[in-house]
Amino acid sequence: MVDISFEINGKIVQPDDMTDALDILFLKHIREKTNSSLASICCPAHGKKPSIIVRGQTIDTLNFEVSGCCDDLINKVNKQLNKRG
Ligand SMILES: [Zn+2]
Repeated sequence: MVDISFEINGKIVQPDDMTDALDILFLKHIREKTNSSLASICCPAHGKKPSIIVRGQTIDTLNFEVSGCCDDLINKVNKQLNKRG
């Protein structure tokens, strides 16, 4: 599992923290999609998984911020995330 957190309007939230049922589903959907698209990604040099922060002012303006053990891993993850279209 990839470590995915959400930060909305400066606050770390879990999908279940959202008050709107659609927002909960939306965040869960993002988490599942991200997890499955990054499932096979692991740093070949360090054997580590990336962590992702999905951050935005609101739920409609989310950006993915990738962190990891090295730039190689981060680049790989960004490429994979951009593939999703
Ligand atoms: Zn690495």
